[in-house]
Amino acid sequence: MTILNNTRELQSIDAAHHLHPFTNTREINERGVRIITSASGIYVNDAEGNRILDGMSGLWCMNVGHGRKEIIDAVARQMEELTYYNTFFNTAHPPVIELSRLLAEVTPPQFNHFHFTGSGSESNDTIFRLVRYYWELEGKPEKSIFISRRGAYHGSTVAAASLGGFSSMHKQGGLPIDGIYHAPSPDWWSYGGELSPEDFGIKVAEQTLALIDGIGADRIGAMIAEPIMGAGGVIIPPKTYWPILAKGLKERDILLISDEVICGFGRTGQWFGCEFMGTQPDFMTMAKGITSGYVPMGAVAVSDRVANVLLEKGDEFAHGYTYSGHPAACAASIATIGIMRSEKLVENVRDDVGPYLKEKWLQLADHPMVGEAVMEGLIGAFQFSSDKKARAGFPDGSKIGFTAREHSFQNGLVMRAVGDRMVIAPPLTLTRAQADELVEKAVKVIDLTYAYAKKQGLMA
Ligand SMILES: *Cc1c(COP(=O)(O)O)cnc(C)c1O
Repeated sequence: MTILNNTRELQSIDAAHHLHPFTNTREINERGVRIITSASGIYVNDAEGNRILDGMSGLWCMNVGHGRKEIIDAVARQMEELTYYNTFFNTAHPPVIELSRLLAEVTPPQFNHFHFTGSGSESNDTIFRLVRYYWELEGKPEKSIFISRRGAYHGSTVAAASLGGFSSMHKQGGLPIDGIYHAPSPDWWSYGGELSPEDFGIKVAEQTLALIDGIGADRIGAMIAEPIMGAGGVIIPPKTYWPILAKGLKERDILLISDEVICGFGRTGQWFGCEFMGTQPDFMTMAKGITSGYVPMGAVAVSDRVANVLLEKGDEFAHGYTYSGHPAACAASIATIGIMRSEKLVENVRDDVGPYLKEKWLQLADHPMVGEAVMEGLIGAFQFSSDKKARAGFPDGSKIGFTAREHSFQNGLVMRAVGDRMVIAPPLTLTRAQADELVEKAVKVIDLTYAYAKKQGLMA
């Protein structure tokens, strides 16, 4: 293998041959891509020798941190023992069996069956088919419609992107596919107007139920939602929202799919985000944290209500992926869950570092340019605003979020920009000292971005 270690050379080869996901490849080629070469714990190192606090856990996934020997060894051992065998056609292998049992232990009590996939997107495609199949078996094939929400992210395949509520994604490729309706987002900052967050939460939940009743609940199979919207900008719904919505769905016999790809595996300080919100979903979408990102994997948790019908009335479910339950991915997941349990990471997020970081993080909203700062568990965001009282944004093209993200990288912190909102989701192994470092760096980024905004005449 040729060893490439010159950053410029790597950048030019990348520009010549690599089409990046969710990237304007033309722009990135002009500027040169940032190259990450190694990582350990909560830090990543780039090709220029900079050490950067990974405030995004990779891409919301490295929940137990980078470079954990226990997981690497478990995967290596598994690959030596049995690198691959399929789980189709009457076969299984020890790691997929062990993982299924473990997931039944850590998920809420209604979940005892799991279907394995390669990603979150695939998991949502699987659920899309399972919901329709379930209602066919129940003699109600007309319950084929899905409700999702504007601003939701559920993945990038055709069904998952259609379920998602990003118009930028729908524009390319003629999406969404038929049979999906998007309800309003519970994003108080953007849409709450004069209402209190509590009243706004009630309003959006009621609007969603009104949308459902307008379509006809007897035609709707399921609603999909994240407990807290992640990629949509870490939108934490007002406390009033989930109780009304979940009750309304139950009354109308509409299944609830909790997309736990980000919120699952400890992110909110509970094992799953639905537990944090107090809902009882019929399906859970899992990926990212399930293997802490060490090996690609997704899974679908199927509740007893659905599984019993599939087992009693169903034929062969004509669906599956070559890598469903890949032994290496199962080994990574088993080791991840082992670390989460032995290091009490869920408890660390709920009782210690979560509340500690939250208290400091919320104070970011004291800055003249920060409109709101939110956090639950170890998932948070702050919103840049040109006029906090009016909850005003910045004109299109002013690149506030983009500028902040660049400052952040340059000052040793990975934060992601969603428009002019900065989001974080650091590894659950975060210590108090590291939380201090994270906040210090975030403050510096805000000050630098404030200076930029003033210079551009975007702020008084
Ligand atoms: C990332 C994500 C997905 C898609 O997962 P992939 O593994 O990228 O396909 C789905 N839902 C949510 C909430 C996500 O954050």
